[in-house]
Amino acid sequence: MTISIKGIAVSRGIAIGRAYKLERGQPDIHEACITDAEIENEIQRLEHALKIARAQLNKIQEKIPHSTPLDIAAFIDTHLLMMDDPALTEAPTQLIRTKKCNAEWALKLQLDSLVEVFDQMNDAYLKTRKDDVIHVVNRILRILLEEDMPAQEDIQTLHTKIIIADDLTPADIVMLHHQGIAGFITESGGPLSHTAILARSLKLPAIVGIHNAKRYLQNNDHIIIDGEQGTVLIDANKEIEADYKNRQQAYQDYYSSLNKLKDKPSITLDQVPIHLLANAELPEDMQTLHDYNIDGIGLYRTEFLFMNRDTLPDENEQYETYMAMVSTMQGRPVTIRTLDLGADKPLKNIKNEDCPTNPALGLRAIRLCLNNPELFRPQLRAILRASAKGQVRMMIPMLSNTQEIHQVFKILDDVKRELRQQGHAFDDHMQIGGMIEIPAAAISSYLFAKHLDFLSIGTNDLIQYTLAIDRIDEEVNYLYSPCHPSVLRLIHQVIKAGKRARIPVAMCGEMAGDPVYTRLLLGLGLREFSMQANTILEVKDVITHSRIDNLRKAGLAILQSEHAEEALSKIEMMNKKIH
Ligand code: PEP
Ligand code: MG
Repeated sequence: MTISIKGIAVSRGIAIGRAYKLERGQPDIHEACITDAEIENEIQRLEHALKIARAQLNKIQEKIPHSTPLDIAAFIDTHLLMMDDPALTEAPTQLIRTKKCNAEWALKLQLDSLVEVFDQMNDAYLKTRKDDVIHVVNRILRILLEEDMPAQEDIQTLHTKIIIADDLTPADIVMLHHQGIAGFITESGGPLSHTAILARSLKLPAIVGIHNAKRYLQNNDHIIIDGEQGTVLIDANKEIEADYKNRQQAYQDYYSSLNKLKDKPSITLDQVPIHLLANAELPEDMQTLHDYNIDGIGLYRTEFLFMNRDTLPDENEQYETYMAMVSTMQGRPVTIRTLDLGADKPLKNIKNEDCPTNPALGLRAIRLCLNNPELFRPQLRAILRASAKGQVRMMIPMLSNTQEIHQVFKILDDVKRELRQQGHAFDDHMQIGGMIEIPAAAISSYLFAKHLDFLSIGTNDLIQYTLAIDRIDEEVNYLYSPCHPSVLRLIHQVIKAGKRARIPVAMCGEMAGDPVYTRLLLGLGLREFSMQANTILEVKDVITHSRIDNLRKAGLAILQSEHAEEALSKIEMMNKKIH
């Protein structure tokens, strides 16, 4: 009999294979007291384990595909940095000496005290850092206990298997993907986790949030996972399996057919051109951008230049970085977003001793910049100087009122005067746009549109603020929905405001890169989409098979939905129609 279990679908595609349970509960530590004579030996064991752990992560890093979002690559960097932190190197060594305990016990004692510190914090971002520390320490412990992930030689063990685990880190996913797994299921996690984003980027079918998955599923069970519906089928009969095999083949055919679209124009069947731009985080991203023949950069997140380092990049370093982007884009627009630090993207150098209770509602993004001219002015100078060499557009994040726009203009005028006096060239007509990611900004976008050259809708934050759900809090993930009627109405309002003021409106949040919403957004009037480069071809495919004339009415009807589920089922119907 076929048994079916439901979880949260996070990465599309069908996987069919045998279950493999990754038994990695808490490492089982043997707490042993040691003699004076054994101390040096234990310290050496610890150092050796740290060395192997670093080597493992370095190897994993080499396997990260080019198309992986760079903040995920940075996530593995963070784990590497932690392995060099005195809290994980010197402190356990001291414990071995003073408490005369074995290396694993010393690490465990140190982990317990670090976890205690994290638990006293009130900050969601720092709480996710606690998970990082646990992941890093567990990796070292498993090496000490010689019970790490199946070794490289064991590739056959995992090849074509569907992994069942309580939790998987992005580093695990890179390694498991390399070993040829067919897909994975985890007991915890949500659609916005780094693991889920990475699975989508690797096109690895995945379902998360199936509590007790390891109890329901046994090693070697024959299972099918449907990463679109979030269903797991156990012991499916022959007809069902044949049906899924056909769907699996259809996915594969679809992905390989997308390559043909690379050099095709992004234009609808009724000849409306749609601009497809990419989001970029680091200059290295430019490499992959060329693979997709994009119209430009719609969002360059400059904060990644500032994070994970001890000193701030000065004006020249910023200028060089922006220039590298501008010259690779060869005349196509590069939209440089001013610093969006704070909340989920904190900076070491900015004082955060008084960590606010709600960092997402605190001094972040443009608020932080207006409060820290010494941080903001060098960036404005660097952006302006880069504007002399190409089509640079500047974008302000997290605007909540028009006074902030005027404050920015005032500083900008001052910086321009300074640059002129110093003989630096810049584009005096550089376009200035604003991100609409706070409901207040969406509601008054007609006011913002009077002062700005373009608007860009940041749905990641707009959804978080509209629905009052922390985007990194797993407990409320289930409420995060781009289809909530209020979110859809706000989006429509911004598009209309741009149209009335005759300025372009783009979207650069994750929603812009999800082909499920492409037709709806076209119907609501969106003409510029900016997304992770590796989703561009899927979105282009939808665009080239759509007729805007047929989508307007349906788009407006979806705004009338009573709840997100109703909107989604209407969107699905809209997507099934031929045009
Ligand atoms: C957004 O909020 O939608 C956005 C694109 O910005 P970020 O994800 O960097 O906050
Ligand atoms: Mg944002």
